[in-house]
Amino acid sequence: MADYYDLLGVSKSASADEIKKAYKKLALKYHPDRNKGDKGAEDKFKKVNQAYEVLSDPEKRQIYDQFGEDGLKGNPFQGKGANFSDFGDMFHNFGDIFGDFFGGGPGRRRNSPMQGSDLLTRITISFEESYNGAEKDITIARSTTCSSCSGSGAEKGSSKKTCNTCNGAGQVRISQGFFSLAQTCPTCHGEGNVVEKPCKKCSGTGFVKEDRNIAINIPPGIASGMKMKVSREGNSGMNGGPRGDIYVEIRVKKHPLFEREGDDIYIEMPISYSQAVLGDKVSVPTMKGKVEMKIPPGTQPGTKMRLKDKGFASLSNRMRGFQYVVLKLEVPRNISENHKKAVEQLKPFEKDHKERPTFKDYLDKVKNLFK
Ligand SMILES: [Zn+2]
Ligand SMILES: [Zn+2]
Repeated sequence: MADYYDLLGVSKSASADEIKKAYKKLALKYHPDRNKGDKGAEDKFKKVNQAYEVLSDPEKRQIYDQFGEDGLKGNPFQGKGANFSDFGDMFHNFGDIFGDFFGGGPGRRRNSPMQGSDLLTRITISFEESYNGAEKDITIARSTTCSSCSGSGAEKGSSKKTCNTCNGAGQVRISQGFFSLAQTCPTCHGEGNVVEKPCKKCSGTGFVKEDRNIAINIPPGIASGMKMKVSREGNSGMNGGPRGDIYVEIRVKKHPLFEREGDDIYIEMPISYSQAVLGDKVSVPTMKGKVEMKIPPGTQPGTKMRLKDKGFASLSNRMRGFQYVVLKLEVPRNISENHKKAVEQLKPFEKDHKERPTFKDYLDKVKNLFK
């Protein structure tokens, strides 16, 4: 997917207005009604819509600027508004912007309650916290209804008055060439009335920013990349609509010894030649403390030993994963003279192929090759 800014032909610092303008132009150019059966145009139309969907939303745009498309992947925001894979929904978005442009109907009702937007935040937890679960406090900046004006945007004592530009209609008609088009009133943004004296606390927007502290309970077994939803704690809604949600994306720090795969844990354990040959009892670290493990005689390098119930708690059932101990054979690099002498003593035994079946197998295959 090309860069969203490139797709719309705007700079990274483009204003919301510039983005909207660029989108309108491109969306009209590639609109399927004008390009019947043109697969290229349809594709372009989809991409332009996708870019606009992100860049027209300040939160999504911020995430995109910071993390690129990956930041929006599996993003809860995608559940709302436009669903990129569904072509039908795109016209919904299209209709919102062009509804009045095409002169369709009396325009959108702008005073109906609307849910506030969702917020996304990320926290990093330790491997231990993801194993045992944790309680974490997060602080997130959200918009909230201004207490001074109760969200009306009007200073105390003043009220809203009918917009002079549109006389309360919320729309104005402008002439463009042969056409007379209805457009959302630029003064009142379609509301039909304006605030006489804007509230000082919120500058007439009806909303102020606040820091919200929330304690979240992270369940044992949570994995990196998972998102937790905190319902109805996001930005305030419009016209009495409910708050949006907060999504908390979990990042888990790497552990120097343990590695997670699904609900299983892997560790690598170096063993010596004599341990591999003779077998041994060893102490193995797990996330639940040390356990004793038997290495059987004749253990081959790379053997995976399995410990029950030492993995992560599953979030989908009551099971726990395994811990796998991968045995690595460590061959000594620098050895003393005495050690060397002792190893020399092994040589005659190694010539007996009955004790080395894999080597014998190999020799047979080599012999057949040159027959
Ligand atoms: Zn206010
Ligand atoms: Zn107006």
